[in-house]
Amino acid sequence: MARTPLVAGNWKMHGSRASNRALLDALLRGIAGQPAVECAVCVPFPYLGDTAEQLRGSAIAWGAQNVSEHARGAYTGEVSASMLKEFGCSYVVVGHSERRQLFGESDSQVAGKFAAALEAGLTPILCVGETLAQRDAGQTEKVVARQLDEVLTKTGIEAFSRAVVAYEPVWAIGTGRTATPEQAQAVHAFARQRIFKGSRILYGGSVKPENAAAIFAMPDVDGGLIGGASLVAEDFLAIAREASKAKRPQLNGRAAAKG
Ligand code: PEP
Repeated sequence: MARTPLVAGNWKMHGSRASNRALLDALLRGIAGQPAVECAVCVPFPYLGDTAEQLRGSAIAWGAQNVSEHARGAYTGEVSASMLKEFGCSYVVVGHSERRQLFGESDSQVAGKFAAALEAGLTPILCVGETLAQRDAGQTEKVVARQLDEVLTKTGIEAFSRAVVAYEPVWAIGTGRTATPEQAQAVHAFARQRIFKGSRILYGGSVKPENAAAIFAMPDVDGGLIGGASLVAEDFLAIAREASKAKRPQLNGRAAAKG
């Protein structure tokens, strides 16, 4: 399994049916001829039907930004993994720092969501990352390890061969402040030695067309999870172009996992 770069847009709670259509039209026009990168958009739940209709059969995959850890039942307001699957989702973001911080999602709940996504045949994009206070206190690796280990304990290491990890330092999300390529590489390398070696590990946190090339050039960075810039077609396309140009070591996942 080669670590084909992935650039995934996290639209957060933005958009309308009309603006989404225009954005996706522009992405579809611009994405042709970039086979060396996978692109996906993670959209708000109500837009999954429209998105599926517009992107079906195209080179752009789609997904959601959250999922319930439960398969079904009396969980008012929740959305299950099988429901996402029914709308053609390939991906679902789990454990985004906004979910952890604003909605109190715990590591164990995130692990449940990760497992539920895999069970339904979705690829979870597991977000991990430290706050500024944790970085300043020298706790970055400890925090990332704790977030990964909760999932590893629940699902086992092999599950990560069917998942994507996104390192998103909380202090870089939506702030315009990006981790340096070296800071990103250090955490990506740390995460990779803990999980399935062939897993794709994305960087997220104020990635823009201007800083994407330097970040994607790092050997353990396999693309990006893009917030703000994913809402502007030309920016998202420019970031995808940078990912497609980046040189990736073509690891064989299974061989690497043993070694
Ligand atoms: C995100 O929301 O996952 C994100 C990385 O946002 P931004 O690119 O806006 O920092």
